Amino acid sequence: MTATIEQQLNIVTPSPVQRLKVNWPGSEKLRLFIKRDDLIHPVISGNKWRKLKYALSGAIDNGVTEIISFGGGHSNHLHALSYACMELDIRLIALVRGDYSEHPTATLKDLQSWATQIHFLDKKTYARRTEPDFIRQWQSAYPQALIIPEGGSQKQALAGVGEIYTELTEEFDAIVTPVGSGGTLAGLITAQPLSTLIGIGVLKGEGYLERLVTDLLPGGILTPWQILHRFHCGGYAKVSAELTTFCQDFNRQTGINIEPVYSGKLFFALQQLIAGDYFSPGSRILALHTGGLRT
Ligand SMILES: *Cc1c(COP(=O)(O)O)cnc(C)c1O
Repeated sequence: MTATIEQQLNIVTPSPVQRLKVNWPGSEKLRLFIKRDDLIHPVISGNKWRKLKYALSGAIDNGVTEIISFGGGHSNHLHALSYACMELDIRLIALVRGDYSEHPTATLKDLQSWATQIHFLDKKTYARRTEPDFIRQWQSAYPQALIIPEGGSQKQALAGVGEIYTELTEEFDAIVTPVGSGGTLAGLITAQPLSTLIGIGVLKGEGYLERLVTDLLPGGILTPWQILHRFHCGGYAKVSAELTTFCQDFNRQTGINIEPVYSGKLFFALQQLIAGDYFSPGSRILALHTGGLRT
């Protein structure tokens, strides 16, 4: 029997659901849980694995030897994909927003050491990344390559993300997740959980994020969902002193590491929602730890 892609990559699923033990104002009235997708893999962590699973297994089944994908200089998506491609003997061509050739980020240094071929695009060119002409141009440069969009958020990602829900053995009143490019929230919605779905926008994107999610959803989905936009702390990867302190306190209280770009904003938002009596007493709330930590 051939090894599954999880075995080939040492992916550990299902990820555990744990009680979240915090002493926030109002938390005593609720039952809080955390799904530890940060524990799936040390590099291919969290929602990036969920979103890439079927794209990568399909690539292997179809004998794909090259993948093109996109991201910023700190992209968790490119980081996860680069490592997975190295392990699977697939060549990754990464199109990166901005020119970091003089000062590569830690992420890009990892990509280089994992044999990813990097092309730096200026911001104007990168902005064209979803245009058909632009895609055609790169596809003709690499005719055999599979193209995976930014963040890995594509329709094919939804089934992998939906497994976050199908792994659950109990129901929750609400599931809370960070939202960056929308694939994770869209995948959860598509799994049609009985829970209310709440996304926490990690960037200034009111209207924009809802559009990204809606564009990914198949028709006929009735699950209610919403994205809250008051917890981005000024924008993508913007960090306030309060948020930094919150992340440190959270780690001290729970023993669970979070980072300020995604999971920090998620749990900071959760704390504020709970303090404002957003959830009815007795509710069972599941927060999704989407990973994103670098060790
Ligand atoms: C990419 C990422 C997200 C955002 O997920 P989307 O599917 O792009 O909305 C959330 N958390 C972490 C840790 C991420 O790396």
